[in-house]
Amino acid sequence: MKKIVILGSSGSIGTQTLDIVYNMKDDICIRGLAVDSNIEILKLQIRKFKPSAVSVNNFVESRNLKKWCISNNIEVSIYSGPSGLERLVEMPDVDMVLVAIVGAISLKSIIAAIKSKKDIAIANKETLVVAGSYIMRLAAKNGISMLPIDSEHSAIFQCCMGEKKSQIKKIVLTASGGPFYKYDKKFSQITVREALNHPTWKMGKKITIDSATLMNKGLEAIEASVLFGVPIEKIEIIMHPQSILHSMVEYVDGSVIAQLSNPDMRLPIQYALTYPERLTSNVKPLNLNEVGRLEFFKPDFNKFPCLKLSYYAAKKGFTMPSAMNAANEVAVEAFLNEEIKFTDIAEIVEKTMYAHTISKSLSLNSFIEADFWARYYARKLIN
Ligand code: MG
Repeated sequence: MKKIVILGSSGSIGTQTLDIVYNMKDDICIRGLAVDSNIEILKLQIRKFKPSAVSVNNFVESRNLKKWCISNNIEVSIYSGPSGLERLVEMPDVDMVLVAIVGAISLKSIIAAIKSKKDIAIANKETLVVAGSYIMRLAAKNGISMLPIDSEHSAIFQCCMGEKKSQIKKIVLTASGGPFYKYDKKFSQITVREALNHPTWKMGKKITIDSATLMNKGLEAIEASVLFGVPIEKIEIIMHPQSILHSMVEYVDGSVIAQLSNPDMRLPIQYALTYPERLTSNVKPLNLNEVGRLEFFKPDFNKFPCLKLSYYAAKKGFTMPSAMNAANEVAVEAFLNEEIKFTDIAEIVEKTMYAHTISKSLSLNSFIEADFWARYYARKLIN
């Protein structure tokens, strides 16, 4: 029986994970769940999965949840605030922590989980962008596995199985293109509603906006470089609107290995949960006759400047990706609040990166400081 903790259980990845776990009750059990503030969903999950502990980031809501548990005679430990996540992942008798919280905010809990020797299933790309080298070193030192949940990285992980890293010629990340790769109106006029309307994937708001600017793909390129230990120069992005081929790896002999399936996040989530086993799933089988054709074309780095910025940040290395990510998180939030235009997102990120002084220390603190500084600077630009 695998015992897991889910950080971010009320979000898109969290709820899909629990759907899968519900169908695998004999193999997986839930020890802990964490949400930001959505206790209505958490109440249902507590009843259904009976975790021994939960964490609610919002203090008021955690108190409300305590009252509800008492009046319903439900026994569960309830933690709150940022330290709540750490207490949850440090519980003994947990095998795996699934991280589905968006943003660099989950960095501390990931580090705590690795230090207490839990395997990590990671759906959060920001932390790997912010402090990837630090996290991967820590994971190796503690002998734990980092299992990717992002569909592209799960694909690459599968395409690398049994192969030597030194024989990889390049990694090709596919990108659906989001809603705007064929958009012919002015990008500055794109509304929040248009940007939230992704053609193939139903996801949370932050990642959907990142998919529209293609910053998501830039973050994923850095994430792939970190997870698979391959330099950014060997990572290529190709547009593939059908989202059937989830990424591929080319080897030195010219062979290209790819992973294909219908676009359904339940597949990479389940694989991370059951690895190295493959179990049956409810995912609709791929029928290439029905799909008909798979298209591929080059991304437009001028139309989507966030791609350029990501490669630049990865090449500069050290604290630059951290600064880029923080500025992007702030800018995306400001766009969602209708404080800035769609095209301002890339501009704010670029200006923040330009003003950032790289720290060449590889300590965790330098990454966190760069993150703090960039949030402050980007916020100032927006104001
Ligand atoms: Mg992805």
